[in-house]
Amino acid sequence: MKFGTAEAAPGELVKGVIELGQDPILPLLSPVLLARGAQPGPRLYIQCLIHGGENVGPLAAARFIRGLDLKQMKGSIAALMCANPLGQRQHSRLIPQDGTNLNRIFPGSPKGSVGEQIAHRLLELAGEHGGDAVLDLHSGGELTITAFYVIYDAKVMGPAQTAARDLAAKVGSRYQWGASEDWMEGTYLTNVTRRHAIPSLIIESGGGARVFDQDLANFSIALHGAARALGMIAGDPPTATDIRRGGNAVHVKCTRGGYWKPAIAPGDDMTGGQLMGEIVDMYGDTVETILCPAKEAWVGSIRRAYMPLYAGDQVVEVVERKHA
Ligand SMILES: [Zn+2]
Repeated sequence: MKFGTAEAAPGELVKGVIELGQDPILPLLSPVLLARGAQPGPRLYIQCLIHGGENVGPLAAARFIRGLDLKQMKGSIAALMCANPLGQRQHSRLIPQDGTNLNRIFPGSPKGSVGEQIAHRLLELAGEHGGDAVLDLHSGGELTITAFYVIYDAKVMGPAQTAARDLAAKVGSRYQWGASEDWMEGTYLTNVTRRHAIPSLIIESGGGARVFDQDLANFSIALHGAARALGMIAGDPPTATDIRRGGNAVHVKCTRGGYWKPAIAPGDDMTGGQLMGEIVDMYGDTVETILCPAKEAWVGSIRRAYMPLYAGDQVVEVVERKHA
């Protein structure tokens, strides 16, 4: 079994690299890990850092894979540790060279900008190695802090979408968001689910230019949960209670800039008109209060506390609550 330069025999964990795209200096490479259980079984694919700076993902994925008992494991896990090496080098969630948000331009193009070429390649890799499930790990990166939530494609319902929704219920997150909004069309998740018919999830936790133990613990629960749900490792997947489902996301912006002083945390329940935080100027005056615009919602993500914001910047993402 091979993934890039990593070639694993049964019971082996192997490191390697894989080529993601052309570059005039050297090919763009990502580190990869390939873990092969002693027994045959399902194939799980994990992708990290499609947004540069979202460092919870690769840290958690490496811990998870290195902690597996491969003698007992059924099947294999292939992990692409850095899907956006250009952004990662710049602490940027985008591709600095062409300004694209890699997770909005799928399916990409082999003849497009560097971002579009990488998107095309990532989708191709998911088709070749995705196997039974694809997990795309995110966090809030440098600027944003997200709740521990999971997203699946809910616009078109087919067998892969149904399997993704079922898997989303087994990764230990109470925020289970079946998204059908327009921005989803260009995501990796949606394109993997629809074009390769492989159930795929985005899993998020943390961010804000730091990695907390709680976020690593959330991802540990999620990754073990997915492997258990697929029957690769022993044990039952976690069951989340007090579930919050998601509908549309509302991106709340400030009209003028200042320092952002949040009154809420990611994952909090919100009702219409509730105070979410204040914008304070350099004189120390509160120049704007940020209120929840949705009737009933939960906080998907916030900008990190005291981050300087500018006119029109996003402050909070609230996800409208859906009762399914
Ligand atoms: Zn992200």
